[in-house]
This record gives sequence, C-alpha cells and structure tokens, in this order.
Amino acid sequence: MTNMKDSKLYELTAHELSEKIKNNSVSVKDIIGSVIARIEAVETKVHGFAHFNKQDALKKAGESKISGPLCGIPAAIKDNICIKDELTTCCSKILKGFKPPYDATVISKLKSAGALLLGRANMDEFAFGSSCETSCYGPTKNPYDTSRIPGGSSGGSAALVCADEAIFALGSDTGGSIRQPAALCGVVGLKPTYGRVSRYGLIAFASSLDQIGPFTKDVTDSALIMNIIAGHDPMDTTSADVPVPDYTKYLKNSVKGLKIGFPKEYFIPGLDKDVKEHLDEAFDLFKSLGAKIINISLPHTDYAVATYYIVACSEASSNLARFDGVQYGLRQEGETLADMYKYTRAEGFGDEAKRRIILGTYSLSSGYYDAYYLKAQKVRALIKKDFDEAFKVCDVILTPTTPTPAFKLGEKMKDPLQMYLSDIFTIPANLSGIPAISVPCGYSKSGLPVGMQLMAKAFDEPVLFNAAYAYEQNKKWEIKKPAI
Ligand code: GLN
Repeated sequence: MTNMKDSKLYELTAHELSEKIKNNSVSVKDIIGSVIARIEAVETKVHGFAHFNKQDALKKAGESKISGPLCGIPAAIKDNICIKDELTTCCSKILKGFKPPYDATVISKLKSAGALLLGRANMDEFAFGSSCETSCYGPTKNPYDTSRIPGGSSGGSAALVCADEAIFALGSDTGGSIRQPAALCGVVGLKPTYGRVSRYGLIAFASSLDQIGPFTKDVTDSALIMNIIAGHDPMDTTSADVPVPDYTKYLKNSVKGLKIGFPKEYFIPGLDKDVKEHLDEAFDLFKSLGAKIINISLPHTDYAVATYYIVACSEASSNLARFDGVQYGLRQEGETLADMYKYTRAEGFGDEAKRRIILGTYSLSSGYYDAYYLKAQKVRALIKKDFDEAFKVCDVILTPTTPTPAFKLGEKMKDPLQMYLSDIFTIPANLSGIPAISVPCGYSKSGLPVGMQLMAKAFDEPVLFNAAYAYEQNKKWEIKKPAI
C-alpha cells in the first residue's frame, strides 16, 4: 500500500474512497486511521458523538468485509437507530445502558454493504428539537462556529460529516431533522419519501412522519447510500413495495426543460437576507441551465407548524408510553408499580420530552381529540393537497431549507415556540410524505452555511437527485471547509 499518511483521506467522499479501495491505492486501515486521527484532533471541539470507542472502531475495521460497495467506509449512526449489542439511547437518560438485541433494517443493509459503523451520533433527546441541545450528553457544536448550534435533531450526524469525522451518517427526519442540520452544517441531507426506507429498528418518535435518510458530503454519495438503504421491508408494514431504481443513474448535469416551482409562501418577510440572496442566485442558475421557473402557491403553509406539533406530539406521547422502567434502560424503584413508573419517567425524561408527552396526551384525550387531533389531521390532508396541485404544474419545488443560518447555542432554549419555528420550511414535506433534499447553496456574510431545499412528489427521488446534482456541478461558489 502507498503511504497515505499525509493525504487527507478523511476529507474524501464515499465514492472517492471506494474508488481508491477498488484500485488498491489505499487500504481500509489507511482510511480508518485517517478518520480516527481526525476525530482525535477535532472531536473535543465538536462533540458530535454520543458514543465512540476507538478500540471498537479499530476492531471493526479489522473485521471489515473486503467486498461491498461501501467496503471500509466509516459512518456515524444517529443514536435512535438500533444496532445489535451496541448502546442505542436516543440521547435520553431513560434509555441509559440500552443495547438492542437486533439490527435495524438499514443497519443490516449497511453492514452487508461493508460500511464501518464508527459510533453513535449525538441528537436531541428522542429527536425532539432543532438544535441538538436537549441531548442528555450535552450539545453538539457547529464546526463552522462552535458558539452556534449544528441544527437538530440529527445535529451530531450533520456535524460529524461536516467536520470530516465520518464520511457519511444516517439520521432521522420527522419534521426536518435531517434537512435543517444538513443546511446549517453545509452538507447534503435527504429525507426520502415516507415508506421508501424501512423504519424497522428506528426508535419511533412520530410513526406517520419519521423517515431515515443519509447525510453526505455530496449529492453522488446521497444517491449511493439510498441505493443501499431504500426498499421494501416486510418488517415494516408502512414500507412501500415500490422498486428501487439505481439513483446514481439520475446524477445528470442537465436540467433543460425541468419545471421548478417557486412557492410565494416560502419567501416571507422574516427570511434572512443572505438566505434570500443565495436562493435568488440558485433560481438564476437553474434558469441559465435551461430550467423553467413556475410561480406556484401552497396556500396552507401557514398552518403547517401548528398541525405538525399536534400530530407529532400525539404520536410521540403514545410511542413513549413504552418507556416505563420495565423493559428498557433506567428504573427508579418505588413502593408500588405505579410509583415505579412515575419515578422512572420523572427521572428519565428531559423537559422537552415531558412537554411533548403532556401536549400529546392532552390533544388525544376525550373531549379534546376532535378539536385538536382530528382537526390537525384534516388540515394535514389540505397541506398534502396543496402539493398534489403544485406537482401538476412543476417537477420540483425550490425553497430555503431554514429561515436563517445557525443560531447561537442557548438562544432559543427558553422559548420553545421560537425553536419550533426553525422547521417552518421542512415540516410540510413530512406532513405530506414527499421526499425533500437539502443542498448547500453558499455562505452567509459571516461565513455560515446556507441550504436550499428541493421537494418532489412521492417516490420521485430521481428528479431530486437530477436537480441537486446539476446545481452542485454548476454552482458558481466554492466549498469552504470549516476552520476547526
Ligand atoms: N425540530 C422538529 C421537532 O422538534 C423536528 C424533529 C425531527 O425531525 N425529528 O419536532
């Protein structure tokens, strides 16, 4: 093997590293060595991992299969996706010490593709949050400015890929938790169509909204990972029996004739000036590449955040009922069984989890169900209908991913409503079940990443990859790695 010590292997993408492995110019040991050295150099500043053990990582590298499309590629997995016999805690005290007895379907698929599962990425407790500050292990920092948040809830996954501590990562997206942190950390994040990727082994937050998806350094890697993790799974009854195309075939440079929707409801007065400017540039670039820009309207957008918080909290309150000190993690003894439940949940859940359980239980309780939960489901149907109408006249919809670049740590922790509003542009795709990708589209004046979001109709990930790739290949600005 060539001595690759001096080259920055950790900066490369999965497809670049795979190529090097294939033509024998680097070994799995070279790659893992480079990534571990990087982790040792920057992790104390980023804190992207919830669990990472160097010896375990090296042991896995030693065992790594020599074949498979992701042979020897180091990845980080959000702490809410089950890996057999490895800590999986949703960054919550209540799951302290929990090691699942089985692999999530996405994990079995990654393992058979030869990926090296390095460690567990930090996240907001049970994926409740937009800043990665509610983790029981403490917050992750944005590698571009460590006084700022990386986004959430999959903040660890985004920050690790951004800081080159992992080549790619998996996260989950219920209302924006892949796309929002991807945007704030300057990486690519995809929320697939609901049912496209199996949720078996993903610890549920809101079952009708959750999807697992990849964080990558470029669009090609996103397609590559989707080729591996997408597909029907008999273990998940909501997974769709729809054939998986080879997504890499859609990585085309041309968008001639593509119809791109411009939804006026997403270009609101509160939108940050830098974000707006970069989005304008993106529209211009697409136009110059031969795409057509179509004005569209998504009239129920204003109701999306309120609708989401009723639906998501209702489902969360029901999903979290299983954490009672009997089967998993933490147990606080009490005089009676009811006391044990009470003390365990009081001690084990953080403030945001408790807030959501209370909100959700309230909107599902008799007397309030019709006024809140049922009403929210009806509005959800209207939001979905807006998209059905829009996709009659356009192929993709282009919007900002977030209203502003990364905010300061602590800035929104005291005001949950302000925090909830950071997902204003990402939530509608979850409520409608459609796929959406966040792609870096430049930097703010102060050097923080800005992301743009592309949405398409259900199972039309191919058009997302086409548009995102064409943008990435033709953009006029340069990627700047964080100076961490
Ligand atoms: N930030 C949103 C919330 O707090 C979305 C979280 C997610 O997608 N998991 O619910």
